[in-house]
Amino acid sequence: MIIDISTVKDIKGASIEVELEGPPDPMAIAGVTLKPVTPVHVVAKATSTGHSAILVQGKARAEFTAECHRCLREFVFDVETEFQEQYHKAVHRPSPMSEYEEDEVLTYNGDFVDISKEVNSHLALSLPIQLICSSECKGLCPVCGKDLNDGECACSEEKGDIRLAPLAQLHPSQAKDEF
Ligand SMILES: [Zn+2]
Ligand SMILES: [Zn+2]
Repeated sequence: MIIDISTVKDIKGASIEVELEGPPDPMAIAGVTLKPVTPVHVVAKATSTGHSAILVQGKARAEFTAECHRCLREFVFDVETEFQEQYHKAVHRPSPMSEYEEDEVLTYNGDFVDISKEVNSHLALSLPIQLICSSECKGLCPVCGKDLNDGECACSEEKGDIRLAPLAQLHPSQAKDEF
């Protein structure tokens, strides 16, 4: 994901808008690997702020598949993020800054700003904390392993699993059976 800034870098205040696509970084949440479905799509604006600095503001979006933490089905989800980063022209100083300072400053070379690393780290920060196919997902029965999204299993009826009691109240048909 590289922005050509040749037309704006020497004019303070000048900006260019771009649409880019690039490969997502491998990502994982709690040991679960996320498989990218689409490239990362970026809409960004690069503005020359003077003193050889370029401000890049934009939005990034990508789609991944992962296994639902509750029902183990594979599902697709979107990750979106907004980002803003400032890049400075890379310079070779005779007496370089300390290593710490060099690490903190994002740089670009020549006419091109490569935003791939920053876009992917912003996406990583926007990942959901828990991978669940839907907030309504009922998960698997802990006894027989049936996917309860497909309907109740025999064991929850027989044993009246306490953990499912709040769900049962939501189902008028089941509540009726108990009278
Ligand atoms: Zn699920
Ligand atoms: Zn069951």
